[in-house]
Parts: sequence; C-alpha cells; structure tokens
Amino acid sequence: MRRKLAAGNWKMNGTGESLAEVDRLLRALPDPCCEVLICPPATLLHRMAARLEGATVALGGQTCHAATCGAHTGDISAAMLADAGASHVILGHSERRAEHGESDLDIRAMTEAAWDAGLAAIVCVGETDAEREAVNTLDIVGGQMASSIPDAVTGENLIVAYEPVWAIGTGRTPSLDEIGEVHDFIRARLERRFGPGVGRSVRILYGGSMKPGNAAEIAAVSNVDGGLIGGASLTADDFAGIIRALSAGA
Ligand code: PEP
Repeated sequence: MRRKLAAGNWKMNGTGESLAEVDRLLRALPDPCCEVLICPPATLLHRMAARLEGATVALGGQTCHAATCGAHTGDISAAMLADAGASHVILGHSERRAEHGESDLDIRAMTEAAWDAGLAAIVCVGETDAEREAVNTLDIVGGQMASSIPDAVTGENLIVAYEPVWAIGTGRTPSLDEIGEVHDFIRARLERRFGPGVGRSVRILYGGSMKPGNAAEIAAVSNVDGGLIGGASLTADDFAGIIRALSAGA
C-alpha cells in the first residue's frame, strides 16, 4: 500500500517571515494525514527543521550537486542538505533543466549523490508543450526515466514526479485520462526495469497546477500517489486543502 504524499516546492520563495505559514499549516493538518513534505529554499532549511521539530512534516531540498564537496561556487551537496535536516531532494525539475541546462545524465548523477547521502530523490519528468505537439508524451517520459534514474532503486529511495511542463504555474492541467495514461505508463516502466516488487512500491506524484479544487479528482486517478505542488504550497490554506484531499482514506 503506497501512502499518499503531498510535497510542496517553494522554489525561490520565502524568508524567515514565511515560517509563520508553516505554523499555520501544522495547525490545519487533518488526522489522519497523508505524508507531507516541504521543500523550501536552502536558506530556510535549518530554521524550518527547528520549527518542525516533533511534527510529522518532512523537509527536502530543491536540487543538489553531484559531487560531495569542492570548488562549486553557489552549489549545495546532498550531504549538506541532509545536515540541514532534509530527508528528500527534488531533482530534475523542469525549471532546473531549462534555466541551468541540467541533462538526464546530470540528474542521474545527482540522484546517486542523493542516495549516497541517505536522501530520497524525487525525480521529475514531463514534456513541454512543443514536445507534446511534436512527439508522443510517453516517448519523452520514457526516455527521461531511462536516462535519469539510476539502477539501485528501492521503494524508499525514489519518487517519480510526472510534471507536464506546460501545466506548471499555468492553471492548465491534462485531463484525468491523460494523467492516468502517463502514470500507468510510468508504473509499467518501473515494474519492467526494477521488477514488480520495487516497481509497485515507488510512488508517482502528479505536479502541475494542483489546487484544493482539483486535488481529490487527480488523487483518485490510477497510480497517482500524491502531488508535487508549487504555487499552492506557499499558503497554509491552499496547501492544507490539498493535503486534506490527499488524506481521504489515509
Ligand atoms: C512545480 O513547479 O513543481 C509545480 C507543480 O508548480 P505549480 O503547482 O505552481 O504548477
């Protein structure tokens, strides 16, 4: 049984003042609750870890370098994220792919580094609008999975996030049938490559304009094990609304 996960990606948003939003979120969490993860900017990780002491909300980074340490100005290693209190890291987000030129092979190396540091990797895959028009979405997603996911997958160290790039921050979402088709495909690929036991235990998140109003119907689609949520994770009210939808039956 895969437990649903609500993962909030704050991106480059948030300062110390935003920690109050986390206090509000903690007060609004339902019981029972799905698994909840917040990935704030790295500058907030340590303070947020202190704020979340004793709470069941986990913390994650938004990327990491493939090396453990060294001359990489501005970068952060997976071990540093773990040291600051993170248990997860988002890798290969489309904004990192587009703005920082991260390739599938870079993401594979980062995933291995995350695992070496004991972090679970949330590997993002998904097609752009142009790719959707020109190529089969499943070919794009299958290629990204084959090249960016290393071999040593377990049910705990990997989470796959399907994020159609054209749905991120746009208010547009694929139809429920389209989401189901891609998630079923990802599940089949995981089972084929890693065997049915591991393949069935890896969680697959949907990301792209998930809101309190659409979370329940998306969460009910086959092989949707939760959401990777950007904009709507920034306010306690919206994130709690999504968490409530994902917690139904938790
Ligand atoms: C994201 O960037 O991972 C994301 C899903 O963003 P949003 O929820 O704002 O579309």
